[in-house]
Parts: sequence; C-alpha cells; structure tokens
Amino acid sequence: MVTIAVDRVRRVAGEVTDPEIPVLTIDDLGILRDVRIDGSDHVDVDISPTYSGCPALETIQADVAQRVRDAGYENVTVNVVLSPPWTTDWMSDAGRRKLREYGIAPPRSRGADMRLLQLAVECPVCGAAHTNEVAHFASTPCQALRRCGSCSEPFQHFKEH
Ligand SMILES: [Zn+2]
Repeated sequence: MVTIAVDRVRRVAGEVTDPEIPVLTIDDLGILRDVRIDGSDHVDVDISPTYSGCPALETIQADVAQRVRDAGYENVTVNVVLSPPWTTDWMSDAGRRKLREYGIAPPRSRGADMRLLQLAVECPVCGAAHTNEVAHFASTPCQALRRCGSCSEPFQHFKEH
C-alpha cells in the first residue's frame, strides 16, 4: 500500500513544470529525487535545484507542495537536496526531445567521457551540426544563444552543467 501511495505522489509531484521552460516537468529535468510517506501520512519530497540560486526553485517547491496537498496529503515538506549536485545528464530522453521540439537545443550527454562535449550542438530548426555560440548567457543563465550556420536561425542551447 505504501509503495502504491509513494508512486502516486511521485507521479503527481513529477508533473510540476519548470516555470522557465514550461514544456519540461521536474520529472523530465531529473530534479525530483525522492518521495517518502511516514506512518502518519506526512509526505517528504526531495528536489534538487538545477543551478544554485535558480530563481525557479521557490515556485517549484510551492507547486509541488500544492499538488501533493491536492492529492490528499495535508502535511507535506519539500526538501531541497544539494548533494550530489544535479547535472544535465539527469535530464530524461523525453525531456531532451521536448526541449528540441520547443526549439531549444538540449544539453549534450556527457556520460563518462568528457570528450563527448566536443560533439556538435545541432540546430533545433533544421538539424544542421554547424552552429556557433553568439552569447554564453541568453534569457536564463542556463542557456546560451547560438546561431545556425546553415539556416541562420538563432536558437537557445540548454548548456551542459
Ligand atoms: Zn538551422
């Protein structure tokens, strides 16, 4: 019973979206770390910030708490877990696909091999591999502004972190 309840709360909490990139849920981002329910129905949800000082974090915390309460659990604590720190490698494949469809080049997967970072950032508009960074910080600190060398369209890149 407890496992079913935890799974349900986890699903409900995971549907909270990132206020800065509303196509991504916190489940897509990989920042929902853990859900626990104790014997007196008190819910603990652990989330990690994408970047330290991310202004979206307070909004996400409030949204998670509200959704858990809506699911029938009045007592909920949303904990911020800083260690181990979040990296873009935790973003799900579904999250990467949604980002691309939204017009933002997803972070490249670093995996165990840092040389992977030499891989091209593909243009989300035409798919060309030849793109150049125009500005390291775009509308949010986690994104860079790039321009495609093929179709010339500017686009945002969710930087590896
Ligand atoms: Zn292009």
